[in-house]
Amino acid sequence: MAGFDLKEGMYEARNVSDDELWSAFACVFSSKSRNDSSYKFGFLKAIIDNLYNVDANLKLSFDQLFNKFGEIYWNLILKYGLRQKAVTNDNRETYLEQVLHAAVEKYKILEPIPYESLTAEMMLDISHQVKMKCKKYVVGALFEDTNRLFYSFSKKEEWIQINPVMYEFVCKHKVIIEKLNYYEWARFLERVNEETVAVKLLNKIDESTKRNNLAIYRQILYEEFESKTCFYCGKQLSPDKIDVDHFIPWSFIKDDNLWNLVLACPSCNRKKNDKLPAGDYLAALVHRNQHILIEAYRPEMKNYQERMVRYVYNWAKINGYDKIWQPERRKVLV
Ligand SMILES: [Zn+2]
Repeated sequence: MAGFDLKEGMYEARNVSDDELWSAFACVFSSKSRNDSSYKFGFLKAIIDNLYNVDANLKLSFDQLFNKFGEIYWNLILKYGLRQKAVTNDNRETYLEQVLHAAVEKYKILEPIPYESLTAEMMLDISHQVKMKCKKYVVGALFEDTNRLFYSFSKKEEWIQINPVMYEFVCKHKVIIEKLNYYEWARFLERVNEETVAVKLLNKIDESTKRNNLAIYRQILYEEFESKTCFYCGKQLSPDKIDVDHFIPWSFIKDDNLWNLVLACPSCNRKKNDKLPAGDYLAALVHRNQHILIEAYRPEMKNYQERMVRYVYNWAKINGYDKIWQPERRKVLV
C-alpha cells in the first residue's frame, strides 16, 4: 500500500475541479488501489461518519476516528463474523482482528455482543488499542489513494485536517460516495468470506455504527434540558413513552450527536421517520442547543457550531432528503 509509511502529509492546496475530486475517489474504488484488507473502506467510513464532528478548522482527532473505526469493526468482525482479509497459508489474522479478539479474552466476553453493550471504559481501552495498531496502516494509505487531495495528517499529533474544497464536495455528494464505498467494501467481503456469512452485507456495513439504545441521551435531555413535552407536537410526554429522535435523520448523519437529538412522543417519531422536519423547527433546534450551551458544559457539544446545523440540514436536502415533514399540532415556536 502506497503511503502507509508516511509520518505526515499535506493536502494539495490548489484549485481543483469537481472532475479531479471525483477521480480521487474513483482511484480508491478502482482495482488499481490494492486492498489486502478492508481498512481503507473502514477508514473512509470513519471519516464520513465523523463529517459533522470536525472543529472550526475541519480537523478530526485520531481518537474520534478510531473510536468509530473500532466500533465499525467490532460489529462486523465479532457480531457478524466477517473476515476482513483473505485466509493466508499461515492463517494469520489482521492486527485489527488480533486486537479485538484479545479484548474479548481480556474482558471474558462469552458470546458476540454489539459494541454499544460494552462499558465506556472497555470502549476507551479497545479504541485506544485499535488506534495504536491501525493508525500506521490506514491514514497515509488513504491520503495517497485520494491523490493527496482529501486531507493533511500528522501521526505524531494524531489528527487529520480535511481539505475545505474536498469537505464541501463530500458533504454535497455524501450519500453517493457512501454507497460507492459500501459497494466496493461488500464486493471485497464477498471475496474473502464464505457464502454462508456473506449475506446482507450492505445492511451490515451501513448499520455497523447504529446504536439502538439511546437511553443515555434520553436521560440527559429529559433531566437537564428539555421541557417535558414532545419537541414536535408539544404534547406532555408520559415518562414511560419518550422516544429519542434524530432531528436530521440518522440514516443521513450516521451518528448520535447531542445537538441533533430531541425528545418526541412515539406518534411523532413514527410519523416523522426518515424525513426532515419543517424549517421553523430547525430554528427551534438551534434555540434549544443555545440553551444546552448556556446551561451546562457538555463534552458532547465541544465542537458544536450553530452554522453546522443549518449546513447539515441543507446538505441532507441536496442528498435526497427532500420530503419535509410538518407536525400535526404545532407548538409555539421561537
Ligand atoms: Zn409529538
